[in-house]
Amino acid sequence: MLQESTAPAPLAAGPLPAGAAATAQPSPAQPTATQTLPAPPSEPPAHPRISIVIPLFNEEESIPHLYDGLVAAMAHYGKPAEVIIVDDGSRDRSFGLLKEIAARDPRFTIVRLRRNSGQTAAFSAGFDKARGDVVITMDADLQNDPMDIPLLMAKIDEGYDIVSGWRKDRQDRYWDRKLPSMIANRLISNVTDVRLHDYGCSLKAYRREVLQHVHLYGELHRFIPALASQVGGTVTEVPVNHRARQYGRSKYGISRTVRVMLDLITVWFLGTYATRPIHVFGTLGLASVGLGTVVGLYLTFIKLFMGASIGGRPLLMLGVLLVVIGVQFVTVGLLGEMITRAWFESQHKPIYLVRDVITAYTEPAEPA
Ligand code: UDP
Ligand code: MG
Repeated sequence: MLQESTAPAPLAAGPLPAGAAATAQPSPAQPTATQTLPAPPSEPPAHPRISIVIPLFNEEESIPHLYDGLVAAMAHYGKPAEVIIVDDGSRDRSFGLLKEIAARDPRFTIVRLRRNSGQTAAFSAGFDKARGDVVITMDADLQNDPMDIPLLMAKIDEGYDIVSGWRKDRQDRYWDRKLPSMIANRLISNVTDVRLHDYGCSLKAYRREVLQHVHLYGELHRFIPALASQVGGTVTEVPVNHRARQYGRSKYGISRTVRVMLDLITVWFLGTYATRPIHVFGTLGLASVGLGTVVGLYLTFIKLFMGASIGGRPLLMLGVLLVVIGVQFVTVGLLGEMITRAWFESQHKPIYLVRDVITAYTEPAEPA
């Protein structure tokens, strides 16, 4: 850990440009990030209450403002906090700037990934380093407002395990950002049964013990609330501030929509059928074989009893296809059952997660 006990010279940030002030609406009670930043402590916090995890990819212009905003927000929040910034293989000056920050402020930890691995992997790397009771995630591009952290923490203190930010007044383009995300949010909400308005907002808070049961792959970071609820976490949301991107470019295009849909299928399937894949594939398979059999019986009947010629009928092809596909579905289901057993049994994973046990019995101590 890099440490420096002298008070820092503020990073050359200056105030946010006019556009930011127009779109950001910090409530009057909240201080804004200004030049008079409190000096950082000389030691990293021993027991941080929160760990702020931030994935960052090529955001050199945002970094000085991000630092100022975080320092002001941590002072505003008041409890011990650490920040983990994951440099996801940036190719600009980002890492150099982050290194300077870590040298001047021991609350900041920088994790640099060897190559650009995507936001989900970056989150995951940050979670592995986090020590706080609660993990807060947010973006590095200044679109989220760290001053909202106390709002999220108030819900955590009420007892929720996951608090998701809701960009009620989202500052992004309509047709390629807000519209697809509106449709996606509806769908995800219906399919996963976790009722949120805004899955895509990065500003979220998670109790760390819940995150330990969540395994992330691909671009599943949007589904962490759904995945966490699948392991028994309670989820809620609060409206948060959102600002337009000031610097750099968004790292995503419209093609993300397709990937979100595919991820939704994965999350739904694994959440519902991970321990019983035959129920999905078997049902589809039996339905298909059944339908194909009916078609076949009908064709046999008209051939045998009505003397019709069936050789050239498209229906014959359909019947055969349905039976073949049906058999394949059932086979895939059986393979799925074998993979499930291999997954759970090879790692001695239980198929349940215990929250509490209440019993008068105590395990006898191991003989010495
Ligand atoms: N990001 C990252 N790795 C990537 C893409 C993005 O760490 O491969 C970071 C990026 O620097 C930002 C956050 O993830 O802090 C969200 O990205 P972006 O702002 O481009 O997404 P949008 O807000 O447009 O959905
Ligand atoms: Mg953004």
